[in-house]
Amino acid sequence: MQFQPFWFDNAMQEEANALPLSLPTKHHCDVCIIGGGFTGLWTAIKLKQQQANLKVTIIEKGYCGQGASGRNGGAMLTWSTKLPSLSKLVGLEKALFLVKESESAVHQIAEFVRQNGIDCDCRIDGCYYTASNEAQKHLLAPAIKMLEDNNLNAWQHCDTQALINTGSAANISGHYSPHGGSIQPAKLVRGLKQVAESLGVKIIEQCQYTAHSGQSPLNVETNQGNICANHLVFAVNAWLPTLKPQFQRNIVLVSSDMAITKPMPETLAHLSLNHGAAIIDSRIFVNYYRTTTDGRLMLGKGGNYFSFANRMSDKFEQPSRYQTLLNNSLSRFFPNHNFEIDRTWTGPSDRSVTGFPFFGHLNNQANVIYAGGYSGNGVVQSFLGANILCALILKNAPVWQHCGLVNQALDNFVVEPFRTVGAYLIRNAIRRKERAEDNNTHVNPIDTYLASFIGSAGKVDMKS
Ligand SMILES: Cc1cc2nc3c(=O)[nH]c(=O)nc-3n(C[C@H](O)[C@H](O)[C@H](O)COP(=O)(O)OP(=O)(O)OC[C@H]3O[C@@H](n4cnc5c(N)ncnc54)[C@H](O)[C@@H]3O)c2cc1C
Repeated sequence: MQFQPFWFDNAMQEEANALPLSLPTKHHCDVCIIGGGFTGLWTAIKLKQQQANLKVTIIEKGYCGQGASGRNGGAMLTWSTKLPSLSKLVGLEKALFLVKESESAVHQIAEFVRQNGIDCDCRIDGCYYTASNEAQKHLLAPAIKMLEDNNLNAWQHCDTQALINTGSAANISGHYSPHGGSIQPAKLVRGLKQVAESLGVKIIEQCQYTAHSGQSPLNVETNQGNICANHLVFAVNAWLPTLKPQFQRNIVLVSSDMAITKPMPETLAHLSLNHGAAIIDSRIFVNYYRTTTDGRLMLGKGGNYFSFANRMSDKFEQPSRYQTLLNNSLSRFFPNHNFEIDRTWTGPSDRSVTGFPFFGHLNNQANVIYAGGYSGNGVVQSFLGANILCALILKNAPVWQHCGLVNQALDNFVVEPFRTVGAYLIRNAIRRKERAEDNNTHVNPIDTYLASFIGSAGKVDMKS
């Protein structure tokens, strides 16, 4: 295999001799899922849990976990920090339901991992949202107020000791919630694959969807032959606009870039970072970091490379081109340490206009379903996405079918080339704004204005 992200490489080394199944000839199934990431695998597992005799097949063009699911930051985050904007999108009642479910999902994933013996370093040690400059200090306040008003607030203001647990004096204040943690994402995907297979799901890797036709059953065309399926699910994440161009304007593919250090458990212990919590600052292009059980530190940073017309560029399959930016973030958070980087990598996040995912029936066809737009918050949310997809397939669980994220009218980004030009203009304005805030110097109001256009890209609701 060519260059691979650290997590995926690490997970695959433990399966050195695994041979992918080939597509049987004249294959028929009840549900064909395209995409072997978290969304596809959780959906398959949940379908089998509800109807054990359902014939479920997943086709994956590479290996399960080679997409975003095997290369993300592994930070388990909830929607609680975005309650105000979620509420604007789906209404308060549904937003509260989704936030509650996202918090519960963290623990359900951990329990599933434990019960199924998936070795993926799952540590539910919570999550810290910090302010790494004065300007970020009160950004979480509106979300916390709304959570409190609805008796749903789990965020606690960090006292000095709690702040020390973030490992860095750059975090000048923060909040902690027990509903969060970290995982080795590729090991979770590969573990889910094994569980799905043990439940009878057929998983065909290196099998690429090319087209489908017909109504019921559907004829699904792949590079390995055709599949006859009663339902088809697009769980292809960043590839959705390539496969189905009607989504071209609903998402923007933007890289998140990560660096992982060599093991250094003593240093982490010295920094009080010998735990599995996710630590995230409150800027639009977040800095986020977490540790691993073998004593590494992983730091990620969002909002770097925007791909023109949402093309799946080779740049997503290479070491990060933003190593200087990653090094700057490491130096900012850990100024007294010169960490030895083991690897850097990157991957495409599918940002929707609202910052929330969307689900629905493709071209109003009841048996063809899609998911997309997780916007960089998908480790936990794909578990909920699977509830939505299962409800749409099995036509049950109205609470998920009508959760507000299904078949809604989607907002559009502007057309190319304005989108990419605009994205870089805004990205650069955000960078200047955040640099000025870090240095406590004057922020140009034009940069503040431009930044307000993609406030939804942050993991915390921005006041603007
Ligand atoms: C670099 C990065 C960092 C991130 N960090 C975090 C984080 O710390 N916390 C968090 O909550 N979220 C994070 N995310 C978001 C999260 O990883 C995703 O939202 C989530 O993994 C989406 O899962 P998925 O199954 O929908 O997509 P994917 O894992 O991308 O799976 C889609 C699959 O579809 C396959 N596919 C595509 N086209 C075809 C085809 N034609 N035929 C067959 N198969 C096909 C792909 O190969 C891929 O494996 C991050 C994302 C990125 C890119």
